[in-house]
Amino acid sequence: MAKAFDVIVIGGGPAGYVAAIRCAQLGMNTAVVDEFVYKDGEPSLGGTCLNVGCIPSKALLDSSEQYHKVSHQLEAHGIKAKEVELDVKAMIARKDRVVKDLTGGIAQLFKANKVEWLKGHGRLLEGKQVEVSPTSGKGKAQVYQAEYVIIATGSKPIDIDAAPLDGDKIVNSDGALEFTEVPKRLGIIGAGVIGLEMGSVWSRLGSKVTLLEAQDTFLPPVDPRVAKTAQKEFERQGLDIRFGARVTNAKAAKNVTVHYEDKDGKQSMQVDKLIVCVGRRPNTSNLFSEDSNLLLDERGLVNVDEHCRTNLPGVFAIGDVVRGPMLAHKGSEEGIMVAELIAGKPGHMNYDTVPWVIYTHPEIAWVGRTEAQLKSAGVPFTSGTFNFAATGRARAMEEKAGMVKIIAHAETDRILGVHMVGPQASELIAEAVVAMEFHASSEDLGRIIHAHPTLSEAMHEAALSVSKRAIHKAN
Ligand code: FAD
Ligand code: NAD
Repeated sequence: MAKAFDVIVIGGGPAGYVAAIRCAQLGMNTAVVDEFVYKDGEPSLGGTCLNVGCIPSKALLDSSEQYHKVSHQLEAHGIKAKEVELDVKAMIARKDRVVKDLTGGIAQLFKANKVEWLKGHGRLLEGKQVEVSPTSGKGKAQVYQAEYVIIATGSKPIDIDAAPLDGDKIVNSDGALEFTEVPKRLGIIGAGVIGLEMGSVWSRLGSKVTLLEAQDTFLPPVDPRVAKTAQKEFERQGLDIRFGARVTNAKAAKNVTVHYEDKDGKQSMQVDKLIVCVGRRPNTSNLFSEDSNLLLDERGLVNVDEHCRTNLPGVFAIGDVVRGPMLAHKGSEEGIMVAELIAGKPGHMNYDTVPWVIYTHPEIAWVGRTEAQLKSAGVPFTSGTFNFAATGRARAMEEKAGMVKIIAHAETDRILGVHMVGPQASELIAEAVVAMEFHASSEDLGRIIHAHPTLSEAMHEAALSVSKRAIHKAN
């Protein structure tokens, strides 16, 4: 007789582990199947996000920012630092400690909530059974029975034939977190979120970074003025972004030779390391037996409705393996919604207020719709902007680049989108999310007292600027 659980979650990333903890809080006997093995050979919870994604990349972004600040930015404050030394191995070791602390923390939370961790590869069988095979490939598979199954198997990097990974000189985002010295010349295929974040890390530490981007526009989903300001800043920092570049071949020998074509014809460049970051694809390999009849969509994602229900009764799917942005917090929120729906509660998820952040310097953040999206939907809108340079706090911090844009409905004044590039945009965007969740108007935000001097005054002034009432700018 197969051991039975109320809920089995396949995948222990931010979507799956959050769903499992919420299920356990709601009184359900819950297990999580996860196959991730950290580079030290130990099974590790937290998925891509904690092991090789959000957390390690932010740890390195923070370390590299500290280094860059001490080496280049403190003089403006009257501080001269001489002979600043860089210890890349110590930086990587700190990043590993941050990862270990957090992934170990999830294991503790599982114990505290009595969530069982089944280590191995999970496969959905007919009738909500889940087969778990040992990751090592050795030993017998076990079959468990569940009342409900939540698939949260995440995503993995897309490979391209033109630049096959060799695990040393040509790597994906996992490898980009593990360089033991600063590459003199770093090539990056894809000037998207990962390309810009990892490019920033290694550029701040001294690499000459060249990004090859297939498209002609920079960050197409981002508000054009925000994207333009960011691009100017990144180029000033030394990132060489080449647009309309189609990589035809990359080969590693002593160095990496990259051949590509752009509007001027055939080009080539030599780099010491090459990172391939051209997007991610859903993790569905050997995830379900044919007779389980799980339906995938045309992009290979698990097909779900707005409540993350698959075509199979009692089987849900959440996170990167389903439609919507591939973001940790989107997956976690779906996990909570599904746990509450299973418990008979009114679970809900507002896909209109999922914030995005790109952790470059300055940071880029947005929530809601862009002007282009509103225009094509025929929604009348108006907008207000405010530059950080006009706030006392940003000046005091020597962080003058960037701006906030607030877009509101032309008739109701309801806030429809907030877009920003600037210092601590990752934190400032939370105010916009709260405002939009509460259906605030730009007038509401304009009437709220913001402490002085803070960066949040740029939000306040941008809100006032929607109705041409900003105080510290000519409207
Ligand atoms: P995952 O985190 O991918 O977890 C899925 C888990 O399931 C993994 O442990 C996997 O091994 C396991 N698994 C897969 N198949 C099976 C199976 N059949 N059986 C058992 N286990 C299985 N997002 C942000 O919001 N903010 C960021 O700052 C950010 N930075 C990122 C930086 C990088 C470099 C990368 C690569 C990604 C980043 N992301 C960021 C994206 C974020 O990591 C993902 O959106 C998030 O991890 C998705 O969560 P998930 O739980 O759906 O899947
Ligand atoms: P991305 O979609 O953000 O960017 C990929 C870029 O590569 C695009 O600009 C695309 O035009 C380009 N590209 C595609 N094929 C190419 C080719 N053959 N040659 C040159 N350029 C090519 O994908 P990513 O940077 O790999 O990141 C994957 C996802 O992970 C993100 O979309 C995001 O969902 C998530 N992520 C989020 C964060 C964050 O929230 N801060 C950080 C990292 C990753």
